[in-house]
Order: sequence, then structure tokens, then C-alpha cells
Amino acid sequence: MAEPEPPKFKLVLVGDGGTGKTTFVKRHLSGEFEKKYIATIGVEVHPLLFTTTKGKIIFNTWDTAGQEKFGGLRDGYYIQGQCAIIMFDVTSRITYKNVPNWHRDLVRVCENVPIVLCGNKVDIKERKVKAKTITFHRKKNLQYYDISAKSNYNFEKPFLWLTRKLTGEPDIEFVEAPALAPPEVHVDDELMERYRDEMNVAAAQPLPEEEDDL
Ligand code: GDP
Ligand code: MG
Repeated sequence: MAEPEPPKFKLVLVGDGGTGKTTFVKRHLSGEFEKKYIATIGVEVHPLLFTTTKGKIIFNTWDTAGQEKFGGLRDGYYIQGQCAIIMFDVTSRITYKNVPNWHRDLVRVCENVPIVLCGNKVDIKERKVKAKTITFHRKKNLQYYDISAKSNYNFEKPFLWLTRKLTGEPDIEFVEAPALAPPEVHVDDELMERYRDEMNVAAAQPLPEEEDDL
């Protein structure tokens, strides 16, 4: 008998142009091979397959053809999104400052979907957006990960967190790693450990009061 089709979820990938969204989604090789281009809205949909302790799951990950560089995205990009990744670039403060705008646009259409915030390019030594600055996810109940698309560092983390939320199975694990493009750069393990420590210290601090909360 044929295997049942794995459950599929639409994943909306947003963030400023140049933050590494396309680089990130293309790391997953079978997803890149099977991607579909939807010409009418100018998006590529990459079916990213993961194998979990409870079976397979597919994230149909939507990536723009660069339209975000000219402002927001059309509602059609967000409609029926079931989960999302918001990306910024840890070497560019403005891309972090724009995260609330991407979040606002996203939740306007996709209410109550699980969202991961990713700070990309942590392989670059001149990091500008440090752990103590990254507080947006705490205010909005998002998950946060440092990632480096070019090195594959933490590639699976956002997908695993989303899988747990979407299935309601907090103990689910991935059982085999998807084939990824070989790393183009390497991260310094000790530095990554320091970043994780700094994030944990920051998580224990009270949230800063901001004008728009008053
Ligand atoms: P997008 O506009 O968000 O889709 O961003 P792209 O994927 O086109 O990437 C923009 C630039 O950032 C390209 O020159 C990428 O090679 C570079 N880039 C993407 N991810 C990383 C990363 O993890 N580390 C480094 N050092 N550069 C990256
Ligand atoms: Mg792109």
C-alpha cells in the first residue's frame, strides 16, 4: 500500500530584503529541487520535508522573488499561512528595527499562527544586533534563534519548534537530518556558545518599557 501523504503546512517567510531568506530556504536540497514558481504572485514555494518521531511533515515554504525590497507584501502572500519565520540580519540594525512591521503585516492576515524570529548571519564577526537588544519575541510570544544560513548553523531549529507547535506534540524530535547544501562558511563553536549564554542572561532580565507600551 502507498504511504499516506505527509501533512503539509504553509510557512510564510518574511523579513527585509538581503537578510538571507532565499539563501536559507535553498539550503534544503530536496525542497530546492522540488520548488514551484507561482508566476502570478512571484513566489517560489519550497516543499521542505522533515522526518520526525511521529512521521513525516512538509513545510511549504513561501519565498518572495524580491518584492519585499519595495515595501510590504500583498495579502495573497500571507493568506492561509499556517506558520511563519521572520528573518533579520544580525549585522544590520535596521533589519531588526523593521521586525515589528513584518510582524504586524503577518498577524493582520495570519492570526494566532506559530512564529519564529531568526537572526541570520551569526557567522559574521562584526555582529551589530546583540542578545540584549533582541527582545521583540518576548513581547509577542515568538520563539527566537540565532542562525547562519551559509554555515547551516541551527537550520533545523525553527522547523522543529514549529513542528511541535503545529502538532501539539512538545516532545517530537527529528529522526534524520535532511540533506543540506554543504556549509560555505563555518561558525566558531565557542562564540556560538557565548551567544547562547548571552541570550539566556538576557531572557532573565525584565523587558524594557517602551513608549508604545505606555
Ligand atoms: P533575501 O533578500 O532575504 O532573500 O537575502 P538573500 O538570501 O538574497 O541573501 C542576501 C545576501 O546575504 C547574499 O549575498 C547572501 O550570500 C548573504 N547571506 C545570506 N545568508 C548568510 C549567512 O548566513 N552568512 C553570511 N555571511 N551571508 C549570508
Ligand atoms: Mg530573496
